[in-house]
Amino acid sequence: MPTWSNWSGKLSASPREVRFLRSEADAAALARAADQNGRQIRVAGATHSHAPLVSPTDILADTQGLAGVFSVDLDKHTAWVGAGTRIYALGAALNQAGLALSNQGDIDEQAIAGATATGTHGTGVKLKNLSATVIGARIALANGELVDCSPVDNTELWQASRLHLGAFGIVTRLNLQLQPAYCLQETAWHDTLKATLNQFPSTAKQHRHHEFFWYPQNDRAQGKSINITAHAPQYPLAEEGKRCAWSHEVLPNHRPHKHTEMEYSVPIEQGPACMAALCELLNSRFDHVRWPVEYRTLAADDVWMSTAYARDTVTISVHQDIQLDDEAYFRACEELFLEFEGRPHWGKVNYLSGDQLAQRHPQWDNWWKVRDQIDPNHTFLNAYLQSLR
Ligand SMILES: Cc1cc2nc3c(=O)[nH]c(=O)nc-3n(C[C@H](O)[C@H](O)[C@H](O)COP(=O)(O)OP(=O)(O)OC[C@H]3O[C@@H](n4cnc5c(N)ncnc54)[C@H](O)[C@@H]3O)c2cc1C
Repeated sequence: MPTWSNWSGKLSASPREVRFLRSEADAAALARAADQNGRQIRVAGATHSHAPLVSPTDILADTQGLAGVFSVDLDKHTAWVGAGTRIYALGAALNQAGLALSNQGDIDEQAIAGATATGTHGTGVKLKNLSATVIGARIALANGELVDCSPVDNTELWQASRLHLGAFGIVTRLNLQLQPAYCLQETAWHDTLKATLNQFPSTAKQHRHHEFFWYPQNDRAQGKSINITAHAPQYPLAEEGKRCAWSHEVLPNHRPHKHTEMEYSVPIEQGPACMAALCELLNSRFDHVRWPVEYRTLAADDVWMSTAYARDTVTISVHQDIQLDDEAYFRACEELFLEFEGRPHWGKVNYLSGDQLAQRHPQWDNWWKVRDQIDPNHTFLNAYLQSLR
């Protein structure tokens, strides 16, 4: 029997069957056959999610074969890309065409449709998450149709599936809003945590990207600021914190140390108070935790299930080593995040029920309505997603 596990190794499953998709026709045929035979499909991107979103028990569909940049529109700065394209490959290919993603997360190993599935984001007060850049999608639905959706075509399906959780069908390609390729200069800094938090609301506005890590039991914040530069890329790339190169070479980092992660988004004005309360929690109750807390910003968007839906946001992430138990720590953090109107990152650990998530997502019912219309037999729901309905 095949086995599956996520990046951290904390989640594993034994799907009955693994299917490698080489074409959109493959995807449509698989979706139709599974639906007609009462089976379930989970689609895998790069399996970097800590939440049990992929966790397959029946059919696992591998989308690595649906990769590449299919077409670009240099006037509109858009491109149709294969859903399984890894972000590192996308960055290089788009750069060849003179285009780039406006922002990226900490790493670039995710598949693009896996990243948009969960609202993956980087940092920057004016920069939105990757789901907000989806201006069109092609999806193999449970009835075997390949359907295109966009702001003018199957509008509700587009609106709902920009952040899709793998629950609408097999996403085969995405149309992304991009921008002309640009170079970035990265600067590392450190300061006391207290000064950093006091100044963050104004310093964050002075930089395109601005973020910091706080290592528990320490009063220092280790930060990075990144801005557009007219300087040419410098190779070989400098170490993290000193790079000057194309955006796709500066924004992602190498994060090989296996960990689990919880991240909550809170309204931007509550960020400093939430972070201060979290530090107090770590100092008083979890003084054994050594993994850092990451503090970033994210601009408001109109993506239905986004953690930044209709509100400018601060994201705060807590981490723990995979060898160590994380539950007591993460549950205590979650309790605190909820006091600050937090919304959990879809791809990371959280313990919320469907009712609790519904209270935090104003478009929850609309999202499920659109989803249920196109997948009435729940071919694209696993046990975790079923539990949230
Ligand atoms: C080391 C590390 C660093 C990270 N850094 C960040 C960060 O900086 N910012 C951030 O926001 N997040 C970050 N994450 C979280 C990560 O970006 C998300 O969990 C993302 O969803 C993972 O992408 P993936 O391709 O691995 O998707 P997977 O985990 O494989 O899948 C995610 C969801 O997408 C679905 N899916 C994938 N492809 C398709 C498709 N073609 N059609 C239909 N459904 C599909 C899956 O079924 C699942 O529901 C990080 C995770 C790790 C492990």
